[in-house]
Amino acid sequence: SEVLTVEHLRKIYNEGKPQAKTAIDDVSFTVSKGEFVCIVGPSGAGKTTLLRCISGLAKASSGTLAFEGTPLTAVPDQLGLVFQDYGRSLYPWFTNAKNVGLPLAARGMPKAQRAERVSEVLAKVGLGHVEKQYPWELSGGMQQRVAIARALSYKPDLLLMDEPFASVDAQTRFDLEDLILTVRRELGITVVLVTHDIDEAIYLSDRIVVLSGSPSRVREVVDVPLGRE
Ligand code: ADP
Ligand code: ADP
Repeated sequence: SEVLTVEHLRKIYNEGKPQAKTAIDDVSFTVSKGEFVCIVGPSGAGKTTLLRCISGLAKASSGTLAFEGTPLTAVPDQLGLVFQDYGRSLYPWFTNAKNVGLPLAARGMPKAQRAERVSEVLAKVGLGHVEKQYPWELSGGMQQRVAIARALSYKPDLLLMDEPFASVDAQTRFDLEDLILTVRRELGITVVLVTHDIDEAIYLSDRIVVLSGSPSRVREVVDVPLGRE
């Protein structure tokens, strides 16, 4: 079954104004349940814009977006988001455990149940020992693990990641890539990950969607089936 459907998506920033800017011209692709899809393209190809439209953070100018068969109108509750800028996505005045539990609190999960789920998900990303510490006490790679744990806390049907490993050193990146692959395998989660790094896309994904064209205008989408388990 299809988790995500993107049909003839177009995004023009400042539409109708002199400074109008087409970020996405015509993008179509689908993501099936359990798939790991990477979206690659050069800087300015519209990758971030695409993820912002999918996650409801930006409004598409035209085209169709559907999540599990339902047209997207608001930010879907079953969406996990991880951005490059993990440093700013965690609240420094909350412990790591509290940061991870925020989406659960927002969904009204009782405290005891929340604590249990937070411990479980932090252990899954290898950070069971830093529950009571604060994000700023951790390395960049560990902070990104906390951000991933937070996105996984409410068992999202779709995990959306925008250049999640771009701000960490090479070894940490390899560790995080393997973590994501393990988590994905164990949870059977559907993942869409944006990267400008084709090697990363080949290593991680089942399918690659290539955004190409001049910087501000996406001309085509190419699906590259990798035939990998
Ligand atoms: P819109 O309301 O057109 O969807 P946003 O709310 O996403 O646009 O952005 C608000 C404003 O911020 C834009 O009108 C634009 O002038 C400015 N802006 C933000 N990021 C960029 C960027 N990467 N390039 C140019 N302008 C930008
Ligand atoms: P990528 O993530 O592939 O680097 P982006 O989605 O950030 O590409 O940007 C695509 C194009 O849209 C770029 O030309 C960028 O300058 C422009 N853009 C991005 N955000 C805004 C915005 N808020 N307002 C105006 N233009 C924007």
